[in-house]
Amino acid sequence: MERTQCVICGHGTLSTLVSYPNFPANALATNQPPEADILINFTIAACEQCGCAQLRHLVDPSVLYTDEYTVVGFSPSWKTHHDVFAKFVKTNLSTPRILEIGGNAGALMARLPDVEYSVLDMFRHKDMPSSVTFVQGNCESFDYTGHPAVVLSHVYEHLYRPREFVAALKAGGVQDVFLAIPNFEAELNDSQIHVLNTQHTYYCDLEQIRYLFALRGYAMNAYHSHEDRAVPTHMIHFKYVGCPAIPLPVIQVADKIVSLHGNYAETIKDAKDDVFVSPAGMIGQMLWYCAKARGKLIRGFIDNSADKHGKRLYGTGCISYLPSSVTALSEVFVCPCKYASEITLALSAYTAIHIHGDPNAR
Ligand SMILES: [Zn+2]
Repeated sequence: MERTQCVICGHGTLSTLVSYPNFPANALATNQPPEADILINFTIAACEQCGCAQLRHLVDPSVLYTDEYTVVGFSPSWKTHHDVFAKFVKTNLSTPRILEIGGNAGALMARLPDVEYSVLDMFRHKDMPSSVTFVQGNCESFDYTGHPAVVLSHVYEHLYRPREFVAALKAGGVQDVFLAIPNFEAELNDSQIHVLNTQHTYYCDLEQIRYLFALRGYAMNAYHSHEDRAVPTHMIHFKYVGCPAIPLPVIQVADKIVSLHGNYAETIKDAKDDVFVSPAGMIGQMLWYCAKARGKLIRGFIDNSADKHGKRLYGTGCISYLPSSVTALSEVFVCPCKYASEITLALSAYTAIHIHGDPNAR
């Protein structure tokens, strides 16, 4: 599926910023054979009218949203995030009923026990509590009649057609909308290469989100900035008040995204063949791709997460290993990411290895 119109303003000209042909559709740790991997054209383009950066090509959701992907909720940062967001929703909720879009295994609903809860999603997560009313459907074309409050925790930035989504909310008479969205500005300022990825399909600028909701009469009623470096998040409550539209905000993120991607690809140029890369996931995968484009072969990934250990990183021929397995290894390349200092420090305990990639050099 190709995007031909801007997700924010509907303008028809999107100009390409960066493009990665044959890029892995996912960044899962997998035991599947490499032949099962799906490769896509990962292209970020910017709207010539409003500046919003967005993916040109969209991946079939059934490829992206397997149960393996939806494991958020277990790290301490995510637990705190769910606690804070549940409190934010509870404080501003004016009805005892919620429809959550994309409930995963139920992390948020478990924190809102007094609410009549239903979940709308394209696929039911295997760990979702059986007591929950589950509705299968696409949130961009759903009939919201009878659902006064809708909640999205890290789902809004995954949408393919947010304009149509907000129109559907209005058409169904939804009064309250609660969003938890990554703070894209903080992520971009922090040089996070995966600020846009195969799942985060467009750059969610706070003012552009307000613009989109105001088009349908929704005004921002409450806002909380969750200042956590692992998951910096905007928490927003929109209320239907029939407000007038506001002028289209124009954003300037194209140059930053182009330079971030250019700098990232450059970092691998001094690495030798046969180097290990840390961490795995989307960040390591991007470095793997840039290395391959330069004719370099990566030996494997080093990652702290035990559930990746011994598994192949989707789209690559490489296995992930725990840091403790690297004592006999020669060289580890630490990706330029927000965890680089921690990773370097942790790896420095293994004196036999050479650590590549100075986090302070970016
Ligand atoms: Zn636009």
